[in-house]
Amino acid sequence: MASARVPEALRQKVAEQARYRCGYCLRSEELAGMPMTIEHLVPIAEGGLSVEENLWLACNRCNGFKGALTSARDPDIGDTVPLFNPRLDVWVEHFEWNSDGTLIIGKTPRGRATVVALQLNNPEIVVARRLWVSAGWWPPQE
Ligand SMILES: [Zn+2]
Repeated sequence: MASARVPEALRQKVAEQARYRCGYCLRSEELAGMPMTIEHLVPIAEGGLSVEENLWLACNRCNGFKGALTSARDPDIGDTVPLFNPRLDVWVEHFEWNSDGTLIIGKTPRGRATVVALQLNNPEIVVARRLWVSAGWWPPQE
């Protein structure tokens, strides 16, 4: 059975690659006020390994909603599609911010499915984003 244990040096390397922010909602460790979680892109339950290629950072919230999911339904088309992969996919190709910077809009089937499955616009985070926008800290610049 694969181990979820990620050596500290590898964790640090992945954190640097992810720029210390969640690969899905882009919240930084500074704004979260806590370290991000190491995310297994292919879940351990699906045979995913604790190797660099299978790891990225996620906030506790996105990590919790993702769970063991690797695909979800696109709400517009209805097809089940792979979730956004923050290591392989480019965020701005699949998502954009709404005009006031508080909502993540899915631009592609993969983006839309990920917004719904990971609840990227849950009410609590939208309130926080509104505060961050008013402080000039949000949305993040790519
Ligand atoms: Zn997140």
